[in-house]
Amino acid sequence: MLQKFERYPLTFGPTPIEKLERLGKHLGGKVEIYAKREDCNSGLAFGGNKLRKLEYIIPDAIATKADTLVSIGGVQSNHTRMVAAVAAKIGMKCVLVQESWVPHEDAVYDRVGNILLSRIMGADVRFVDEGFDIGIRRSWEQALEEVKSTGGIPYAIPAGASVHKYGGLGYVGFAEEVRAQEELFGFAFDYIIVCTVTGSTHAGMLVGFAKDGRQRSVIGIDASATAAQTKAQVLSIARHTAELVNLGSEIVEYDVVLLEEYAYPCYGVPSDETKEAIRLCARLEGMITDPVYEGKSMQGLIDLVRKGFFPEGSRILYAHLGGGPAINGYSYTFRNG
Ligand code: PLP
Repeated sequence: MLQKFERYPLTFGPTPIEKLERLGKHLGGKVEIYAKREDCNSGLAFGGNKLRKLEYIIPDAIATKADTLVSIGGVQSNHTRMVAAVAAKIGMKCVLVQESWVPHEDAVYDRVGNILLSRIMGADVRFVDEGFDIGIRRSWEQALEEVKSTGGIPYAIPAGASVHKYGGLGYVGFAEEVRAQEELFGFAFDYIIVCTVTGSTHAGMLVGFAKDGRQRSVIGIDASATAAQTKAQVLSIARHTAELVNLGSEIVEYDVVLLEEYAYPCYGVPSDETKEAIRLCARLEGMITDPVYEGKSMQGLIDLVRKGFFPEGSRILYAHLGGGPAINGYSYTFRNG
């Protein structure tokens, strides 16, 4: 589906799929749980889902003769860390607008984890006192104008690399990769669990899995706590991406399965249940999930298994999208383990 698009390689290649044997057993042993380790996808600054998306965006940045990647996210954004890494790797400058998306208590929240890494990689990191919003922001547009006014050529990458003409392509590739791995395994996954916020990861998967009619097997776990906006963004990115790859069928609202009940209390703040899910997964599998994204999708997965949402014998693929570095900003949350 993606042959006609230029791809700039930023990842190691297909990501491994591993069985979470002990977690599956702990949850009753009636379903099989697997994880696709997108968090281990690259040597670029600890990797993560944004790199698959950026592989299809960077050729466009290079073609425009840009010299500066300009992007936006929260203070502990994984996405901005990935943009900083890619800018370093391809020899561009990087301006990052870091908004105050998350109420936090840790004394070093704005100095460790993702933001620390972005600074080390040479990004021009700018704090802006604006709250959470997955849409296009004025602060980001201002940063773009500023680069222009000082003679630079900016290339705009929106939050999460999502509302970009090529933002959905990377996760179409994920679905194609899973299909190839399923052939090797000799079975297909019944469900795919994905954490959803800015939407292009979920949207790309919908298009990729729609090729064999499996789009409703993709279960999005909302971590934005603004689920209506996120759902609308997933749908619009999926529709655009479906056209781009000539899917031949339309993605409709019904195809977007987005569970809203795990995002509380708000974006970036883990509930007690999220913390329990992070601990459980870490203690049974040594697999680290973060309080903002994967901890919430892990919480959703655990709760759905416990509730019997998945029929017995189901094989569930949990997409681990990265996010580990943010955990450094949550030392108070895990003060006692
Ligand atoms: N998981 C992690 C670790 C992320 O950094 C993000 C980014 O927002 C997501 C999940 C959600 O992906 P998306 O923004 O494409 O919905």
